[in-house]
Amino acid sequence: MKWKESVKGLKAYQPGKSIEAVKKEFGLSEIVKLASNENPLGCSPKVTAYLENAVHNFALYPDGYGTAMREAVAKHLGVNGDELIFGNGSDELISIVTRALLQPGVNTVMATPTFSQYKLNALIEGAEIREIPLKNRTHDLDAMLDAIDENTAVVWVCSPNNPTGVVIEDAPLQAFLKKVPKDVLVVLDEAYFEYVTNPNCTDSLPLLKQYDNLIIMRTFSKAYGLAAFRVGYGIANKELIARLDPVRGPFNNTVLSQAIVPVAIADQAYIESCREINEAGKKQYIAFCEKHQLDYYPTDTNFILFEVKMDSDVVFQELMSRGYIIRSGNPLGVPNYIRVTIGTKEQNEGLLAQLEEVL
Ligand code: PMP
Repeated sequence: MKWKESVKGLKAYQPGKSIEAVKKEFGLSEIVKLASNENPLGCSPKVTAYLENAVHNFALYPDGYGTAMREAVAKHLGVNGDELIFGNGSDELISIVTRALLQPGVNTVMATPTFSQYKLNALIEGAEIREIPLKNRTHDLDAMLDAIDENTAVVWVCSPNNPTGVVIEDAPLQAFLKKVPKDVLVVLDEAYFEYVTNPNCTDSLPLLKQYDNLIIMRTFSKAYGLAAFRVGYGIANKELIARLDPVRGPFNNTVLSQAIVPVAIADQAYIESCREINEAGKKQYIAFCEKHQLDYYPTDTNFILFEVKMDSDVVFQELMSRGYIIRSGNPLGVPNYIRVTIGTKEQNEGLLAQLEEVL
């Protein structure tokens, strides 16, 4: 393809307006961004303290194997270092799996709506995309199984799912994995794993012992509050990891990113406190929805998708003009709903007070 042709008809990213741009446009001095499911509390204070005194030689490339970071994550999870692959965010892991396995002539199965990057990457590689609508607000795993054929290379399952926040529970997930052909890779994206409190959705790591066609993806961008550092990781058997490894960038995690991972993962008390605060924040939104009889998806994440009973783009614009950036459901495939990241207690109160006026 010539560079003057657009890649598979795709348009350049159209990122939401920056905080600075919104301030300028609406003459506001403060903006609360609850649009991208970051941790409103930031990262562990231990990471901040580490960074204040961190000394590194920025002239040298980072460790291409990310040894210290790898050892810390392996120890925390109870897996071997060679059962992990690190990406520049899980975004890069999604791209790695796609580049490794998808191409014209093969197909890939995913839910809809789900995280947009699975589809985008598949489009770039020219694979056929089979999108299966959610059923009863969760992945329709039976229909996804039916969509698999001899040309299927990858199936994406996202638990909890973005943009709905709903988990796939243990029992249906296990039944699904049993039936997926062994030559089809299953990607279980658990970007919001640390926020899950549903007792029917427990640790998926033991599944890796049973299924060598499974990779689990997690990230430091959400509960760990480190989205800016871009560290995501995949957990799978060592043969699969070795096959995916050459597809990543050779130095895909920076020196500082690698250095903060052991500090961040050691502070599980911080993650626990974030989860508790998030639970309280969820209750604020659920109470609002119940008071106003607005439908909402039962969330196991740090965001909630709920009904606004009017055009979500209008709600998005109104809230932005009042200093709150959220996500309209329209581009996410859920019109008349908005997706809001759970903020601090005060942020949630502020947003809900504005929403009360808008609706
Ligand atoms: N998977 C899901 C389900 C997500 O919501 C996100 C971020 N929005 C990602 C992956 C990518 O996260 P990151 O690249 O920051 O690790």
